[in-house]
Amino acid sequence: MKTKYNLAFLSILMYLGLNAGIVDVTYNTGSGSSWSQAQKAAFERAAKHWTDVLTPNHDIRVNAYLHNLYVFHGSNDSSWFRVLGYASADQLYRDFPSSDPQFVANTFYHAALAQKLNGNAISSSTLPYHITIHMNSSQKWYFGEHFSGIGPKEYDFTTVVLHELAHGLGFSSSARYDSTLSAPVYNAATPYSMDRFVYKNLGAVDMTSLPASGSSTTSFLTSNSLYFKGSEASSQNGGNRPKIYAPSSWVQGSSLSHWDLGYFGSLNKDKLMEPQAGFANSHFFRQVGKVTRGFMSDIGWDVTMSVNENSIAKRIKLFPNPSVSNLNIYIDDDVGKYQLRIRSITGKVCYENEISGNQIAIPIENWNSGVYTVELINSKTGSAQHQKFIKTN
Ligand SMILES: [Zn+2]
Repeated sequence: MKTKYNLAFLSILMYLGLNAGIVDVTYNTGSGSSWSQAQKAAFERAAKHWTDVLTPNHDIRVNAYLHNLYVFHGSNDSSWFRVLGYASADQLYRDFPSSDPQFVANTFYHAALAQKLNGNAISSSTLPYHITIHMNSSQKWYFGEHFSGIGPKEYDFTTVVLHELAHGLGFSSSARYDSTLSAPVYNAATPYSMDRFVYKNLGAVDMTSLPASGSSTTSFLTSNSLYFKGSEASSQNGGNRPKIYAPSSWVQGSSLSHWDLGYFGSLNKDKLMEPQAGFANSHFFRQVGKVTRGFMSDIGWDVTMSVNENSIAKRIKLFPNPSVSNLNIYIDDDVGKYQLRIRSITGKVCYENEISGNQIAIPIENWNSGVYTVELINSKTGSAQHQKFIKTN
């Protein structure tokens, strides 16, 4: 029988830094020996990939622990799971200026994302780390680079770090189990950014219309019918809202904050964000899937959508940003032609053209104010970059 372990997480707190735009890792041990070079290399492989995918405008500081995590209270009954790892934001932020269209009022943003969207809001001296990750040293891990080296009963360390970093970057819901009420609850007064995208089936009302607890909330959160209604994630999922893990029995640390178990096919990279991992080749991912990238774009990150991260991600500038009348797009690349598409936050295409050359100015004076996503697809390589800009009046 193949054993599966839960990839638990804590949907609490995390954050990022400001200069080079990298994922900067501090290595800790709860007890025992320090991180080996192989262990650090395995962690940094995942950190580097997120740097490439998100091209953050500030350093993302991660506090990483490798120590014994024997058990974790895994559900609403007496069952316990052995975890591979868990992660959380070190802090959540809200109360951004109401004039800033990037933020939804009364909503918590994970620190790394909050700083990306509004760097002035966060002082590095008050928040040394954006994300804290705990990896279980008592698991049998593979720390190597190549798939060919992994043993049949080993878990891939880099894969699990990739997964946990996603939680710290914003892939987490405020929904959790309340042992006093013996029922799932969520932050109704100040939901997390992800919560505002959670809908039942094709419903028109997101979960934040529900009370914090009670029968309607329990029924919703354990309906096994929840979907993520982000325009980018849906677009990357063939036009369908991707399904969220919401089993009929609440699983603490897993429910709501993952894609549904078995929703994606066995080799699909979006399987990375399912709540459980198997051994070796059943769960070996070195890249973040496109639907998960779409999710990150929907909650506010700039995202490289294709797997060719190095091709255009860091060579595109949008300015001024915010902009009132003209959006300038500068591409430091001689490859030539790009498909340019600009979409509103609801996914409506507002501009589409094939462009060549290094710079283009688009008049946006008559556009509604708000957040837009600029998609640039290299016509030759197919690599794509999605960046946000703000139209103001
Ligand atoms: Zn997880």
